[in-house]
Amino acid sequence: MHNATDCCQAGSSGIARRTLLKTSLSVAIVGLAAPIARVESASAAALTQSERDSLTPDQIIEHLKQGNERFRSGKMQAYDYLAQKRATAGGQYPAAVILSCIDSRAPAEILFDARIGDTFNARIAGNIANDDLIGSLEFACAAAGAKVILVMGHTACGAIKGAIDHVELGNLTGLLAKIKPAVDETQYAGDRSSKNDAFVDAVATTNVRRTIDAIRSGSPVLAAMEKDGKIKMLGAMYHLNGGRVEFLG
Ligand SMILES: [Zn+2]
Repeated sequence: MHNATDCCQAGSSGIARRTLLKTSLSVAIVGLAAPIARVESASAAALTQSERDSLTPDQIIEHLKQGNERFRSGKMQAYDYLAQKRATAGGQYPAAVILSCIDSRAPAEILFDARIGDTFNARIAGNIANDDLIGSLEFACAAAGAKVILVMGHTACGAIKGAIDHVELGNLTGLLAKIKPAVDETQYAGDRSSKNDAFVDAVATTNVRRTIDAIRSGSPVLAAMEKDGKIKMLGAMYHLNGGRVEFLG
């Protein structure tokens, strides 16, 4: 059902609200003929509930891929963040939740050319999962309706290097301990040091897979949603050189 939180927020006149309702319905019908972010309309400032609910997990993943392609090719949308802020102030209907690293070079919304309100974002060094992060993912999907969980690592990750090098520093020691099993699990015949970029990135990929496994085993709620086809969980690696987000099969 549409209500005041579906479209624009406070201050919409009846006429404006009807116009927005009509526009949002047409956007939903247009579906994937054009990425939602490209649709020129008042409601395109943010995802509405009807738009989000009409998307399948695969379509949402496709939107993320298209957004990354726009980022890589320098063809990002000319967003009006203030309009997005206004459109989302009274409610949010994000389609995906992204668990990624705190690295300053890997800002998820920018890499996916996403808008305010498009994605939940959880960031922690080395994109590991713990109970609180898994709880956040459960909120995003089971309570708030997101349909995709993307765990995204990145190349040249300092947390991965720290785990390889057995760095010890305050509370970081405990965090890196959660990454260390990925170092041991990574099959790699060459130089297994943090100076070898290929090894570091191989461990980061293993770590992404391990995080997804930890989410599945740590959350019967999310595992059941995935089994029922309500959500999809997948991993990715962001390449600092070139800007490509490589989705892992
Ligand atoms: Zn990192």
